[in-house]
Amino acid sequence: MVWNPPNTLSASKMPALLQNRGIVFGYRQINQPWSYYARSICQFHNETFNIWTHLIAIFIHLSMIYQYAEECNFYRDKQSWTLLIFSVCCIYSTTISVIAHIFHSKNVDAHYSLFLFDYAGAYMYAYASGLIAIYYYSDEYTYGMIVNVYLVAHLIFSFGGVVLMCIMKTSFGHRDHQRTRKGLLSLFFSLHAILMSVTVARKYWLLMNGNHQYLASITNYNWIYLYFILGGLSYSCHSPEVFLPGMFDIIGQSHQIFHIIATLTQISQIRAVRFEISKGYASYGHPSLPSLFILSTISLGGSTAGSRE
Ligand SMILES: [Zn+2]
Repeated sequence: MVWNPPNTLSASKMPALLQNRGIVFGYRQINQPWSYYARSICQFHNETFNIWTHLIAIFIHLSMIYQYAEECNFYRDKQSWTLLIFSVCCIYSTTISVIAHIFHSKNVDAHYSLFLFDYAGAYMYAYASGLIAIYYYSDEYTYGMIVNVYLVAHLIFSFGGVVLMCIMKTSFGHRDHQRTRKGLLSLFFSLHAILMSVTVARKYWLLMNGNHQYLASITNYNWIYLYFILGGLSYSCHSPEVFLPGMFDIIGQSHQIFHIIATLTQISQIRAVRFEISKGYASYGHPSLPSLFILSTISLGGSTAGSRE
């Protein structure tokens, strides 16, 4: 049964740029005061669960930081710094996403501006993922071989990703072009993921040659890869709503599934890091706080500037 909450609009009454494939009802009204969208956090419409899936994710991350802070000393323990940066980037990107989903329906300009910032946040998360991959997941041999080249390449990919996302959104933002846009973005993400995978490739190679030292680590990575693939599919395929338009307007649409899988990915990444630390596998990595800070600042500044182009 199709549920059309009160005071919401059908897709036909929305500007084409604010329509989503397979979503027929439940759009909030446009050109309302900002307070209307703020109040809508606690009302039913087709963004309600996009907002709440990420609001809950923020609390999960805060609780994980609190839990870890009870076990280690963030000030003295150098090994915890990269994980702390990763958690902060997760909270940063998730918070921007929440803000975008709350306010983007006001008008087309707000929609574009907020989602360009959302993309900048998403790439801060991708950037931090690359840091934990090299500092925690790579084995000592791989770390020594690639760390310098990898960090530069990863920074270029991270900045390039934001610029590409923004170009795609402004050039192919219309719903008719969503497949092209999301297909190209998925291709770029996959290339970036391959770069990050170089950090763990040797562990897989050792396992295939009968060395089981890193078997438990690889099991953790497999979960991360599985969530990453599921997240990409849910982001790009618009299923199930394209097959049954109108049935998943409020709950069950692909973007809500994407948010949940994105959070599960982040949790599995953090758990994998903590496993590596507990086993002493990441003890050779020595991230210097100044370089981490400088790289993070450049990445944040670059991604924000890219989102404003
Ligand atoms: Zn979202």
